[in-house]
Amino acid sequence: MKKIVFVTGTRADFGKLKPLIQILQNQSDFETYLFVTGMHLNPLYGYTLLEIEKTGFNNIHTFENTTCETTMELTLAKTIEGFSSFVKQLQPDLIVVHGDRVEALAGAIVGSLNNRLVAHIEGGELSGTIDELIRHAVTKMSHLHFVANDEAKNRLLQLGEIAESIAVIGSPDVDVMFSNELPSLKVAKNYYEIPFQNYAIALFHPITTEINLMPDYVKQWIDGLTATDKKYLMIYPNNDLGSSIILDCCQTLKENPNFRILPSVRFEYFLTLLKNADFIIGNSSAGVREAPYYGVPTINIGTRQQNRVNLMDIQNIDCKSKQIVSAVAELKEKNTTETVQPFGNGNSAALFLKSLEDKAIWNINHQKQFRDIY
Ligand code: UDP
Repeated sequence: MKKIVFVTGTRADFGKLKPLIQILQNQSDFETYLFVTGMHLNPLYGYTLLEIEKTGFNNIHTFENTTCETTMELTLAKTIEGFSSFVKQLQPDLIVVHGDRVEALAGAIVGSLNNRLVAHIEGGELSGTIDELIRHAVTKMSHLHFVANDEAKNRLLQLGEIAESIAVIGSPDVDVMFSNELPSLKVAKNYYEIPFQNYAIALFHPITTEINLMPDYVKQWIDGLTATDKKYLMIYPNNDLGSSIILDCCQTLKENPNFRILPSVRFEYFLTLLKNADFIIGNSSAGVREAPYYGVPTINIGTRQQNRVNLMDIQNIDCKSKQIVSAVAELKEKNTTETVQPFGNGNSAALFLKSLEDKAIWNINHQKQFRDIY
């Protein structure tokens, strides 16, 4: 029996890890564990540990890594410390991390420094902010890579990873997007008390590498949104450097009848609300990754998702109130006919399981070799 521990620090990684945990939990060869930390344990961000507990997963271990906004590196250090104790006690066969957050980096560092196999989900992507640096650093500290598409695979090869360590499985959130586990719109609206008939989703995260510009960005963001005649479901950002500036602004909109503001929405409910939204605006990966699958137009603001994907339904604009107003005015109709599949077609969990059933993967050399591409 292989012990596999999944590290989760935010709603952003949990939605993607969930289908992978689910499929392994039903297999007698694997025993799954969850190391839950970060925003999940913070009441300000919706205390999403509750969502994890509702899944009924076994072996949920929590660790408070106190994410004070100005100290992402201390959060990293503390997570390393907490996860190190957990790993020493559990002695897992595999550590699974996702994406580009400090919790993933902590997981990969602890794993590789303890000679434990580390698997990274969705490496090889491109974006802006500190996420970009963290994601590629996690790749280098991981032994196995489960990526969303061939472009991501090629980037990992360019980073010197060996082909045998990379499996293209698509993005696991697509599994959930097209599953029959999504609630109806009525249920989702009732649950989150959303009073609007038509609405857009607004989600703006800090851009850590442009921290000095954040106060102006947030002003432009709020001025722009309030100058449109739309209703918004506004969701809190993540807890990266600069998030308090955005949170303060959310407070100023609390009494505005055009805004329903929520810290976080459960993944399946979020997907239903996204699918039925008129558009999504801000700089969330949901706008560039998930919305195009549903044909929902995206207004993507600023550099956070830079280089990620460029699909027809995405308007890229600067963080200027005037550009926000004109982008909203120029929105196209929902595109329900075009199908995009740049991140797989919804069978990531099955492909992940297939990979782990291959004995070769468990014998991969822990001493990584850098492979030149010329
Ligand atoms: N998401 C969610 N609930 C929310 C907001 C987002 O489940 O209230 C999901 C969303 O579908 C996406 C992921 O969380 O897959 C990450 O979105 P977010 O904007 O939080 O972070 P990003 O990926 O842009 O860093």
